[in-house]
Amino acid sequence: MRRIDALQVLVEGTADLPVVVTCAATSRELAAIADRPNHLYLLDSMGLAGSVATGVALGLAGSAIPRVVAIEGDGSLFMNPNVLATGGYLRPDKLLLVLLDNAVYGSTGDLPTYSARIDLGALAAAAGWSVRQAADPRTLRAEFAKALEPGGPAFLHVRIEPGNASGVPKLLEDPVVIGRRFRDWLASR
Ligand SMILES: [Mg+2]
Repeated sequence: MRRIDALQVLVEGTADLPVVVTCAATSRELAAIADRPNHLYLLDSMGLAGSVATGVALGLAGSAIPRVVAIEGDGSLFMNPNVLATGGYLRPDKLLLVLLDNAVYGSTGDLPTYSARIDLGALAAAAGWSVRQAADPRTLRAEFAKALEPGGPAFLHVRIEPGNASGVPKLLEDPVVIGRRFRDWLASR
């Protein structure tokens, strides 16, 4: 399963949920599939998708929105693994972190991350997250649906192949505009 195949499944299940997505190829590919106001693309903010989603999930406690979905990469999560400890400690009920793990830095020449030897799902479980796994679109669809059920924090560890989709344009929108669009969408819910 390529990244864009996994993102296609996630797009199907997140039309009405806030989605905070990591930078570079992941944001570009998600926007190429569907550029929606509920997507917050963290352009150039590597390592912060889980942190921002944690804050949004805490802020939405008591609201009608059931889940906040962070889409993170393995290189990015290794940059800021404190996301796992913070989520395990604060236990935001609505937080779901989807890790697209290809074991490489996909936006910088596929240099290997630590993922081949360090299991980020096991780290999340050790910190108290409920962890699910998927490695193909059918399993991802089923496990994502289960991970949307109440009770968090939840961690969906998705193994994907290295490689970026071809022909995907750069995402050159001003981050201020993207942030405002996301805030307006949230306020309208
Ligand atoms: Mg990666």
